[in-house]
Amino acid sequence: MNKFAFQKELERVCRGEVLLDEPMSQHTSFGIGGPAEAFVCPADIADLREILTIAKEAAKPIFVIGRGTNLLVSDAGVSGLVIRLNQSCSKIRASDGRLCAGAGVELSQILQLCIQQGLGGLEFTAGIPGTVGGAVKGNAGTLKAEISDPLLEVETLDTNSLELSILKKGQIIFKYRRSSLPKELLLTAVTFQLYPEDPVNVKTRVEDYLKTRLTSQPVGEKCAGCIFKNPPGHSAGQLIEQAGCKGMSCGDAMVSELHANFIINRSKAKASDVLKLIDEIRERVRTTSGIELELEIEVVGQ
Ligand SMILES: Cc1cc2nc3c(=O)[nH]c(=O)nc-3n(C[C@H](O)[C@H](O)[C@H](O)COP(=O)(O)OP(=O)(O)OC[C@H]3O[C@@H](n4cnc5c(N)ncnc54)[C@H](O)[C@@H]3O)c2cc1C
Repeated sequence: MNKFAFQKELERVCRGEVLLDEPMSQHTSFGIGGPAEAFVCPADIADLREILTIAKEAAKPIFVIGRGTNLLVSDAGVSGLVIRLNQSCSKIRASDGRLCAGAGVELSQILQLCIQQGLGGLEFTAGIPGTVGGAVKGNAGTLKAEISDPLLEVETLDTNSLELSILKKGQIIFKYRRSSLPKELLLTAVTFQLYPEDPVNVKTRVEDYLKTRLTSQPVGEKCAGCIFKNPPGHSAGQLIEQAGCKGMSCGDAMVSELHANFIINRSKAKASDVLKLIDEIRERVRTTSGIELELEIEVVGQ
């Protein structure tokens, strides 16, 4: 199936939203990224299955996106299908200390429910943008905790068999900012085991975490969070600062003056600018400390 026929077929079948040749810069917190051949928001799981079938028949690659807050999408864009599960996986409910959220639900929405219902255990996620699906896939976290800590189980859809299944936490390996969840499994829902807590305490802790972020990170700037993982026993931000990289720039991409492990897009930075800056930072850190920095953000696209 050629590109035109693929796009037409998606428009014919999908009951949700279909955007063709959609600039990914509209869907990433970096504000960077060329066009996706097709960007779809399925209406529900049945719609998602139909869409996956079309992609399979057309032999098109699939990429599932949350809020695009941990991604650097290339300037050439993404071939194939980008799927966003905001409509199809948007339910959220809590009872008996268990909170179940569709994978497209944002962490901030989950925290609001935790405050309303007096549920503790996820406050440390305050200020981490993005969806719960993206957070579990990458085991998002802070120095305090990781999203896998209060996790009970996930619901997944296999992009090959189109079957839904439940995976218990013990069936998934979680490490620092990564999980063993394979690419062919899309997360559709996530369940946490939380604990009863005074709503005032939950709210206070959330606000405290948010305040700390405001003073230590370039909140509100176009960025994708920490660019590099912390090497064992080191802070990537400190290593980058010691290497004299703060304020360094390439085009409109600049190393944040506030937190050296953040690169910000001052206006119209390209992915190529960010990648050049990343290479330069790595080179300088290697020279000054002998340490090889590993990317925390995911580079996507052609
Ligand atoms: C200002 C700022 C601060 C940040 N602070 C932190 C922090 O403190 N700690 C931290 O860990 N991260 C942080 N991040 C990075 C980012 O917010 C997290 O990694 C977040 O969990 C990514 O979620 P997302 O929905 O945006 O995922 P995306 O960036 O859209 O995707 C990330 C990965 O998850 C996959 N994915 C998304 N949804 C699904 C799904 N339903 N099923 C299967 N795979 C899926 C994608 O394919 C991709 O591989 C920060 C980012 C910013 C911009």
